[in-house]
Amino acid sequence: MQNLIRGMLLEMGENPDREGLLKTPHRVKEMYQFLTAGYREDPKALINEAIYEQKYDEMILVKDIQIFSLCEHHLLPFFGRAHVAYLPGGKIIGLSKVARLVDMFARRLQIQERMTVEIAQIIEENLHPKGVAVVIEAQHLCMQMRGVEKQGSTVVTSEMLGRFRSDPRTREEFMGLIRKV
Ligand SMILES: [Zn+2]
Repeated sequence: MQNLIRGMLLEMGENPDREGLLKTPHRVKEMYQFLTAGYREDPKALINEAIYEQKYDEMILVKDIQIFSLCEHHLLPFFGRAHVAYLPGGKIIGLSKVARLVDMFARRLQIQERMTVEIAQIIEENLHPKGVAVVIEAQHLCMQMRGVEKQGSTVVTSEMLGRFRSDPRTREEFMGLIRKV
């Protein structure tokens, strides 16, 4: 990867041998390894080691999970907040694991829509809850730095499964909770 980044600097019209750029290929390689670490992690394994049986019937919501991801179209960051809720069906998962799960999907080349669905699906498939809801609100640098240059606009995506889809009151409760400051 370092050779490719060196080549990219040349294509940009830069001199990769000048002092400020000498270590750039190494630094950029390390950065991309960190930002794409999600490919080398298994969300199914994480979720399964953190599941436990618990009688708890109310909604569990982890909101304002900070996310940083890279859009797969431009390799530019998109970032914002994710809100994840589920209605347990006998099994629950450690709260900190929900945030780690979100990170695993964020640290890949992504589109926000797919990431939203992937987070909901992994919870659905492994916890078999009565419902799952995921909302992501994010700003995309590829929209802000180039192209339409709409600064400050936020993209909101959501995936609702089970009761969050079929029962408007459950959905309303969730939407009310994530809007509360
Ligand atoms: Zn993009």
